[in-house]
Amino acid sequence: MGKQWVIAIDGPSGSGKSTCAKLLAKKLGLLYIDTGAMYRALGLWAKEKSVPFEDNTQIQEFLNTIDLRYGVSEEVLIQIDGKDLTKRIREHEVSKLASIISQIPCVREFLVDFQRTLATTKVCVMEGRDIGSVVFPNAFCKFFITTAPEERARRRLEELKEKGESELTLEKIIKDIEERDASDRNRAHSPLIQTEDAVLVENGKSLDQTLLTLIDITKKKAIDAEINL
Ligand code: C5P
Repeated sequence: MGKQWVIAIDGPSGSGKSTCAKLLAKKLGLLYIDTGAMYRALGLWAKEKSVPFEDNTQIQEFLNTIDLRYGVSEEVLIQIDGKDLTKRIREHEVSKLASIISQIPCVREFLVDFQRTLATTKVCVMEGRDIGSVVFPNAFCKFFITTAPEERARRRLEELKEKGESELTLEKIIKDIEERDASDRNRAHSPLIQTEDAVLVENGKSLDQTLLTLIDITKKKAIDAEINL
């Protein structure tokens, strides 16, 4: 199989991978796809519809009936059954719902199929936890982005404060991040791993520096894979 036209960006929550992925896509004029937003939307919508997460049959039925749309417009990132969920999926509580629903195999199968069809038309930057390992194992360029846990928690707290969720403390966020990480890394299906062919990038204090590194490596990999960016 030839190389897949995807830049796969994986890494733990709060590593800054979304910001990096977004900026990389913008700089190179590529499509940006946030798969975490999809798990968040499914978690939120299943909860709203009172679908029990532990009942596989009901979850499967739920998946069979929903109309999921991604990238409807610049402002409307994600929609289910005509409802725009773009803002609500960023609430702190939704992170937990996403983390729980993402452990269900039929949910992962559903979203992996969805993600593969989204990436057929043009080169894209796709970010998540299993993009390089499961969704596009033959992606021409793979990154695994990390950052120190305290830095990740600090960024997350700033983000939440901007959205008015200021009652959370740094300690509580660190604890939640550690729990979600452990669950992402240890789950039976598609755990968060760095594949052998992924380039490890430490997203330190300078985002500009990280971005330059990502652009440089992506361009080199595109030349090797004979892909026109
Ligand atoms: O990336 P984000 O933090 O928005 O993802 C929310 C949750 O969705 C993650 O904690 C993870 O459990 C799940 N997820 C996943 N696989 C992906 C993307 C997200 O399991 N490709």
